[in-house]
Amino acid sequence: MSRVAIHIELPKIQHALEDSERWNADWERLMSTQDLNFILGYSLNKLVQRRRATAAPESTDEYLINLNNAIEMRQRLGKIGIFTFIDMDFEATWMNAAPSERRKHVLVGLSEGCSIARNLNDARRFTADVLKVDHLSRDGKTYLDLFKTIMPGSDLDTTPDLYYIPNPEWDSFQERMKEKYAASKVHLVSLGEMQVLRTELIYYVVGYTMMSFIGLKIDRVAGIKPRGASSDFKTAQAKKMYKEGDRIQRMMFGFEEAKRRKAEEKQVAKALIARRVVMCFQCQKHQPEGEKFSRCSRCWNNLKRDVVYCSRECQIIDYKKSHKMICGKEVDMDVATQFASKRAAAEYPTTPQQIPPAVPGFKRSPYLLRHIQLLNKNPNADFFFRIAYTGETTSDFISMDLTNPYLHKALRSVRNKAMSTGDRESIVALSHGTLWYCNASSFDKKFGWNFDNFCDQMAKEWEMEMPDLKEAILELDRKRFEDPLNRKRP
Ligand SMILES: [Zn+2]
Ligand SMILES: [Zn+2]
Repeated sequence: MSRVAIHIELPKIQHALEDSERWNADWERLMSTQDLNFILGYSLNKLVQRRRATAAPESTDEYLINLNNAIEMRQRLGKIGIFTFIDMDFEATWMNAAPSERRKHVLVGLSEGCSIARNLNDARRFTADVLKVDHLSRDGKTYLDLFKTIMPGSDLDTTPDLYYIPNPEWDSFQERMKEKYAASKVHLVSLGEMQVLRTELIYYVVGYTMMSFIGLKIDRVAGIKPRGASSDFKTAQAKKMYKEGDRIQRMMFGFEEAKRRKAEEKQVAKALIARRVVMCFQCQKHQPEGEKFSRCSRCWNNLKRDVVYCSRECQIIDYKKSHKMICGKEVDMDVATQFASKRAAAEYPTTPQQIPPAVPGFKRSPYLLRHIQLLNKNPNADFFFRIAYTGETTSDFISMDLTNPYLHKALRSVRNKAMSTGDRESIVALSHGTLWYCNASSFDKKFGWNFDNFCDQMAKEWEMEMPDLKEAILELDRKRFEDPLNRKRP
């Protein structure tokens, strides 16, 4: 039986920023001519081959690094999201923009995301279902929904983890491979790597698209410079793999062209590495010119894992915080996942939660998340009224603290239900209860607050139609004795 060498040439990272249109067209052509299942199967094989050629084929370190990056980006998306959705009215501006305008920014997001590192550029082949320019820009809503789905779910102050973007083809591929290769660690680690790269790239593209659209400078993350660990690839098997690659290239392009391509690849690799930095794992300080940060010796001696610190102090802090879980040890996927979330938790300390987490199926809006954030930071407040949208907590919100213990308890119970389930009756009851308070405290005279403002706030926070909400509140007022808070009219 003859073996056919299949070689798919992926659009190159150096063209992402240089010639985004052509680079994107190449990607989209590739993705539309190959069926997703085939691309995924091919990619998994490639990754497995590459891993097998290294000295530590089952190492989860790359998986771990990408997992950390992705979690960090998700956390950032939460922060940028809340800020832009609320203070810049991003949703309306995006929807009102012409599709061609949106398209321009999606393309910037894509090419910026893919040009961070070669593995991210190549990861575009795992995202064929999501990262298509038209898909993300034509109707506007697709992109917004994706952004809101990725934003940290229940609260920004809780421990972040990854949200995997589902897709039937991808999910079934993953299930099949997990079953098929249950006994092969190399396959399972490679599969995990594909999943995490896919997720990381989608996060970056979504974030960079928004930054480009609202004119924020895209602060690209600095890649970490490898310091010697690449010697892993100098194994006999790696050499054989590269030789095989060269052979295929010569077969496809002829000797001269293959040579030219190889030289170009070398240049690109050099340029990519030059852009990277050595940085402290704890405080993220960059290693200055002429100085050499030290590394964790146990990790380096046992595994050639390059964990770098600017000082002894940083190393001690990081060790206590999370590094001890993995120091000097090979970790499996489960430990890697636990480690990443522990590290993220230490990075973003949690504040006491006032509101229960969202029930499955209820997705909180950015407005509601902002409100919950305020309540978490001010446990004495029962509710915050928004009177402006300037981005300043102190002048945008007025807090309400009920002094009557009965009302206090009753209001918090409907508030918590409304904020964690989105239950309509609770939202209306909460509106009615808080409205009553505003009237009794003459908020209109004191702060220029009014009923329409209030309905607007509630409608935004729960993504309800304003007229419906108004009508429901008035209806409850007419039958006020059925209000669970059951107050007499003042
Ligand atoms: Zn440091
Ligand atoms: Zn260590």
